[in-house]
Amino acid sequence: MNVLLVFAHPDPRSLNGALRDVAVAELQAQGHTVQVSDLHAMGWKAVVDHADFPDLKPEDRLVPVLASRDGYAASRLTADVLAEQEKLRWADMLILQFPLWWFTMPAILKGWVDRVFAYGFAYGVGEHSDRRWGDRYGEGVFQGKRAMVITTAGGWAPHYGPRGINGPIDDLLFPIHHGILYYPGYAVLPPFVLYQADRLDAAGFEREAERLRECLRTLEQTAPIPYRQQNGGDYRIPSMELRESLGGGATGFALHLREGVKA
Ligand code: FAD
Repeated sequence: MNVLLVFAHPDPRSLNGALRDVAVAELQAQGHTVQVSDLHAMGWKAVVDHADFPDLKPEDRLVPVLASRDGYAASRLTADVLAEQEKLRWADMLILQFPLWWFTMPAILKGWVDRVFAYGFAYGVGEHSDRRWGDRYGEGVFQGKRAMVITTAGGWAPHYGPRGINGPIDDLLFPIHHGILYYPGYAVLPPFVLYQADRLDAAGFEREAERLRECLRTLEQTAPIPYRQQNGGDYRIPSMELRESLGGGATGFALHLREGVKA
């Protein structure tokens, strides 16, 4: 497979940097071709502004959705964004790697998504009618590709368990898994999460590195998180509510998992 790893840590000597090197080496050992977008090393611009749209005059009002749509349609987005979009077309598998900061991805990575996932590319695609609500949630430009999160957290595993005070990790990652990755069509694999990252010693690192290698060895076989397809009949259109007959006793994010299917 072609694998794109988008890396968001400011220091390559960090734990995340070491895990990235483990991941790249293992992926290559498995015969995959790997590209890394190291956002800090690239000096990635994290905010959306006028400079993203060369056809926009300084005095023009910036409406990000429309500017993104027009810029993408005309291939008039900036070179850094176009290059990342090309990598995404190339990649069969996308890995987002980051330390968990304030319960989500660091701003630089969110800015990568904001700028690269353009209208007409990652959203706003497909037929919008009373029968379909576009190609999204399981359909879209990345359908047939896989994606996965690698993250490290200072908190303990039980803090992120079903009754943990931080909230379940599956819930915290839902906006990334479902909202950013599944939305444009990726099949999303269960994440690799390393807990108590700040207290990791050398022996712990070796153990975690091996767990990561093991996880990466089965990338092509691992069952994705069984999210429901938007256009598969489970949701009413246009309200996009799950039909009352579905979901069992689930509430919240768990409603959007197909019943009886294990990840
Ligand atoms: P580092 O600081 O680089 O390393 C962590 C430990 O790993 C060190 O002790 C280091 O010695 C050791 N280590 C072992 N082997 C190696 C090796 N081979 N290479 C490098 N280091 C090694 N945590 C949460 O749980 N929830 C949050 O919401 C949250 N929010 C945060 C917000 C901010 C702004 C910050 C700065 C931290 C936050 N944290 C949070 C903690 C954060 O998730 C951890 O600090 C982070 O995951 C650690 O990853 P790192 O790569 O920065 O680790």
